[in-house]
This record gives sequence, structure tokens and C-alpha cells, in this order.
Amino acid sequence: MNDSAPLEAPAVVTNPSAPSTDRKEAHAIEVRHLSRWFPGVHAVRDVSFTVERGQVIGFVGANGAGKTTTMRILATLDHPTSGEAHVCGHNVVTHPAEVRRCIGWMPDHYGTYSHMTVLEYLDFFARALGYKGNERIERIAEVMEFTDLTGLADRLIDALSKGMGQRLCLGRALLHDPEVLILDEPAAGLDPKARVELKHLIRILAQEGKTVFISSHILSELGEMCDSLLFINQGRIIHHGSAESLRRGNAATSVVEVQLAGGLGRLAEWAALSPHVTFREATKSGGRIEIDSVEPEVIASVLRRMVNEGLPVTDFHLQERKLEDAFIEILGEIEAAGMPIVS
Ligand code: ATP
Repeated sequence: MNDSAPLEAPAVVTNPSAPSTDRKEAHAIEVRHLSRWFPGVHAVRDVSFTVERGQVIGFVGANGAGKTTTMRILATLDHPTSGEAHVCGHNVVTHPAEVRRCIGWMPDHYGTYSHMTVLEYLDFFARALGYKGNERIERIAEVMEFTDLTGLADRLIDALSKGMGQRLCLGRALLHDPEVLILDEPAAGLDPKARVELKHLIRILAQEGKTVFISSHILSELGEMCDSLLFINQGRIIHHGSAESLRRGNAATSVVEVQLAGGLGRLAEWAALSPHVTFREATKSGGRIEIDSVEPEVIASVLRRMVNEGLPVTDFHLQERKLEDAFIEILGEIEAAGMPIVS
């Protein structure tokens, strides 16, 4: 909330006749100094970020942080107060039709069409998108197969579970085979099985080369499927980085938990004689060691040596910060600094 924000958003200067930028060279998403004020609320403040083609990027923030507002602007459903956003090289304000052709949009709440079946719903949108005849039938069949809805073709939308409804909404967003998917809280309210299914679908879409911009406040979920995470807090971007770098933090050393067949064995003794390694403590079925590097090659060489020198290793895994802890830590740093960090 920003009391000093103007009550009315100033108009955005648009020039529909300006050429769209060269889309082949363009980032999938490029946002520059984007702001959106609502009366009394500065929902998005000077946000800048880029998303490369083929990336899956998680958009993370608490309730009211500004995720939906940013996504709605990218989906051409709202105008920024100031700043610019481009999707596949097209300006969202001056070239909304081109942007809509490139994107599949899944809102956090989809409209209820209680009187329609799954097939009728997809058919309605496929017609609206201009699909005709066999092409339409084939495209709907492909989308229903991908989202595992084929067996539910005649089910009324009213009678779908939350997970089925989310898959239908994703199917609708995929009908025109868009390059970029903008998914607002697609996993909200899903049970663990439906979340796993959704994650699986998003991974397949990423493998097919789609760019996926996905919001959630469940960080562990995003960490598993995203190339990078974008944190937003009170309308400002406070961090943009890979899940691995967040889990690692600023540490200069790596802590590894090692399990050995037969328990601790000679791990402490081995560590004492090994370069780069310090024995930290014993655990139930092995021990914790510290390696004086975060370089994957050095960590791999320690494991190789351990095995070559006869230690019966059954498990060797890095201890990392939880993403939630990383998020809280970043928020704490911002508060301590007394000012927001803007990317
Ligand atoms: P959630 O996780 O709860 O969906 P969010 O991160 O998506 O939250 P937004 O919906 O973007 O957050 O809202 C950001 C801020 O802007 C909130 O304070 C919200 O109340 C305000 N806001 C959003 N839309 C409007 C609107 N149309 N009019 C006035 N204020 C709005």
C-alpha cells in the first residue's frame, strides 16, 4: 500500500503504427521499468526482468505482492501505468493482437461454464481461434490427450474436480500452440497427485521448447521445475536467480551428508587424510563432511576418491537451504538494509 500513489493511473502513450520489434531476436518476455498503480495501491513498482526463450521461470511472492497484476499486463488484459513489456518481441500495449497469438494464458480463476461439457468448451474456444473442420477436431483431440481429458470429453464442467478443471484450463491455453505460457497459480488448491500431474505436463511443455512463466507461493514446487525464480515483494523484484544458487546461498564451502553401508566406518579417518575435506559430525548411518569448494567438479572428485579408496558409499548428497528459507533470508536482508533491492 502506498498512500502517496496517485488516485488515477496516468494514461500510457501508445503508438499502434510503430513496428513490432524483430521477433526472432527478441526475448520471450522483456519487462522494463513496469509500474501499475491502482487508486491508493502501487501494485507493481519499477519492475524489470527478461525471460529467455525455452525457459521455465517461477514468479514467487506473498498474497498481494503483484504477481497477477504483472501477469495480466503481459497477457494484454491490463495496461501498465508506466514502463514497457514485450512478449516475443511485441509490445503488449501497442501490439496486443500479436502478443495474444504468442501466449497461452491461464488465469488464477477460470470462468465457470456449467452447462458445457469438456469437449464443447474446447470446441467453442477452438472455433473462436479460427480452427475449422478436421484441423479443429484433430487439435482438440491432441490437447485432450496431452492434458489427459479424453475420457472426460462428455463430462459437464460443473462436475469436474479442481485438478480436472485446471487441466481443462491448461488445455484451452494450449489450443493455438502458443510459444509462451503465462500460468497464474495453476497449482493452487490441487491435491498432491494433481500437483505432480501438473508438474509433469509443465516439464513436457518445457522439453518441447515452450517458455513457461508460472506463479505460485509454494516455493518447493517451483524449485523443482523452474530454470530460475523471480521473487516479488510489495510490487518490487527482490531477486532473480536459479533455484540451485538460492539453495546454495553465498556459501564458499559445501556440506555433504554421506551414508555408508555399515554406518560411520572410517569416514572421519578418511576425511582427516583427504585434501579439501573436513569431518563435521557423525549421523545415524554415516556422517557429515565439509568440502572447501562449491565447484561441482571438486565435489565430484571427492565422491570419486571416496569410492576409489574403498568407502562403501550408499548415499552422498549436498545439504542445501530450503527455498523458503532463502526467500525469508532475502526479505530479512532487504529489511535490514532499509530499502528494497530492485533487479
Ligand atoms: P495473490 O497471490 O493473492 O493472487 P498477487 O501477488 O497476485 O496476490 P495482485 O493481485 O497483483 O497480487 O495484487 C497486488 C496489489 O494490487 C494488491 O494490493 C491488490 O489488492 C491490488 N490490486 C490488484 N488489482 C486491483 C484493482 N483492480 N484495483 C485495485 N487494487 C488492485
